[in-house]
Amino acid sequence: MKIDVLFQGFPGTITRGYMSWSSIVYVESGGHKILFDTGGMSEHTQLPKVFKARGLSMDDIDMLVLSHFHHDHVMNYEYFPKARILLHEKEAAWVLSDPDDWPIPKYLFPVVEKTGRLELIAKDEEIAPGVTTLHSPGHTPGCMSLVARGADRPVTVLAGDAIKNLTELATGEVAMSHDNAVSAQTIRKIRDIAAIVIPGHDRTLKIEADEIVAVTALHEVITVPAGVVYPDKPAQFDLAIEPTRLKIR
Ligand SMILES: [Zn+2]
Repeated sequence: MKIDVLFQGFPGTITRGYMSWSSIVYVESGGHKILFDTGGMSEHTQLPKVFKARGLSMDDIDMLVLSHFHHDHVMNYEYFPKARILLHEKEAAWVLSDPDDWPIPKYLFPVVEKTGRLELIAKDEEIAPGVTTLHSPGHTPGCMSLVARGADRPVTVLAGDAIKNLTELATGEVAMSHDNAVSAQTIRKIRDIAAIVIPGHDRTLKIEADEIVAVTALHEVITVPAGVVYPDKPAQFDLAIEPTRLKIR
């Protein structure tokens, strides 16, 4: 089994609103090539480059697992013409109920449905050897995570926005959730089974006895064209967060 974080989420907000930089994770097991979440429009140009850099083919992806139907997780499905598209049944029902939930791109749902490749998951199931879906409600009613169990690795949960960042995993307190109490239950459930958590908008997290440890760093660069800041070269601004740790509450 292989798990590779193609894009690491970023937990920030900016003066303009939400940054919406989410995680996109590649999972390979038993001949299946799975992409967990497909990012937002801001990853549209980078996604093919990241695949190419890793020697992966987008045509080979046989499953897209959408953690939930928010705009920063469900775009770019058109790059993967052969993939089944898995979404939790409760998320589909939530989207179709026309909820007051601004991050849902409601126009997109019928388009994805029209591919004929959308499959709704009704209960947790093994989709590849050692890779099981986990209904993880709270952030939205139909959030779905993936649990990866292999002899060669600690139990790893790809959480999506069921757990957006280090703070949420450590405290059980969430922001921007449809139901905070249900989110807290889901986070406890994931904390009980996972050794590693890949959250929707942060670094890879390790659960230790009484602490959550972010084991990776975050580094993004904002580039401004030459002439705007410096007369003859582009300006680059670093956004970096080093590995940190936080006590579990
Ligand atoms: Zn998100």
